[in-house]
Amino acid sequence: MARRLVILGATGSIGRQALEVLQASDDLQLVGLAAGSSWQELVAAAQRFRVKAVAIGDPQAAAAAKEGWAGKVFSGEQGAVELIEETAPNLVLNAVVGAAGLRATVATVEEGIDLALANKESLVVGGELVCALARETGAAILPVDSEHAALHQLLEGEQGRGERTVERLVLTASGGPFRGRSEGELAGVSVAQALAHPTWSMGGKITIDSATLMNKGLELIEAHHLFGLPYERIDVVVHPQSIVHGLVVLCDGSVLAHLGHPDMRVPISYALHYPRRMPLQTKPLDLAAIGSLSFEAPDERTFRCLALARRAAQAGGTAPCVLNAANEVAVGAFLAGELPFLGIAEVIERTLDALPTEALHSFDQLYACDRRAREVAEGLIAELVG
Ligand code: NAD
Ligand code: MG
Repeated sequence: MARRLVILGATGSIGRQALEVLQASDDLQLVGLAAGSSWQELVAAAQRFRVKAVAIGDPQAAAAAKEGWAGKVFSGEQGAVELIEETAPNLVLNAVVGAAGLRATVATVEEGIDLALANKESLVVGGELVCALARETGAAILPVDSEHAALHQLLEGEQGRGERTVERLVLTASGGPFRGRSEGELAGVSVAQALAHPTWSMGGKITIDSATLMNKGLELIEAHHLFGLPYERIDVVVHPQSIVHGLVVLCDGSVLAHLGHPDMRVPISYALHYPRRMPLQTKPLDLAAIGSLSFEAPDERTFRCLALARRAAQAGGTAPCVLNAANEVAVGAFLAGELPFLGIAEVIERTLDALPTEALHSFDQLYACDRRAREVAEGLIAELVG
């Protein structure tokens, strides 16, 4: 029987590509769709896939969808959670952007439903609690992030081989559009320049995170929670061609790598069909035509967001939640033209300095911490640019 799938964030970059992957698959039955506000696109997708229930975060957009469509429409912050309850899926793809995705991650894992996770922010903010909950309920967390999907595949072959065969994990980073620049050369960069990613086409927030290297910092925390390795055993290497997605260093000196053109449909299809592997029409990898692959160390002194993420990761507790909230606010302000590029790291650092790290005990604590960190970051931005 086809597995029942809900897609959250269906109108975004990942969500749209997931719908493309589904078009060619009879293994999955789409039963629910959710988005933040673009109700017309969401309803059109619901009609195309004969989906009878949707959730729309924005109440006004939800009201408009109710006027224009006969299906069931949930709305507000809890809408996605109600959609999951209503449609009883076996698999949820969380492709919402930002900490806003945490509630749906928790609702999915709590019910023991498998989670295909693009929303890395939910693991950054709540990784400790989310993973403990998944262990309790038996829900699988299948990474959609390309580096983590690569590592997931590489690590499968090491299961049952002995106590500790995996020495290190390596995440590759493209380096973004500003690779090689000095701090002085970053001061005046424009939003359009920061959005011009050299290898991946993605949503706005993650594209800016790639330009600051915060994306790799978030992915470091994501990898720690997904694969259970301490931070000292997870490395980052810059690889501008984005052909190698992840590497696993083994105890006998072997290093396994996962290669492919940068195409998110590959990890999306992997996570949606796991443990099966389905054929996908992709561009063949012609290494001779590519010619050479290069690697370099990340410049963490210039791209301070990666170092800030390491600092929050090591502190643990609520620190990654604060880091993430400050980053979301700062990136939003940069995209709105209100904060210079270098202001992003500054706002994050000062927000981390302002809020003491607490030990984690509940999701409610994280929701409150997220709100507080946003207020502090907003205040700092007003101070910086006012
Ligand atoms: P996007 O901005 O293109 O799309 C985000 C989606 O989330 C949209 O459907 C939007 O309607 C929905 N959304 C936004 N705010 C919401 C809210 N408050 N409540 C409910 N829904 C909301 O983002 P994206 O690039 O597709 O990224 C989605 C997630 O996947 C992010 O966590 C990102 O880090 C991760 N990711 C993306 C890529 C990529 O190639 N785009 C690669 C790896 C990981
Ligand atoms: Mg990634």
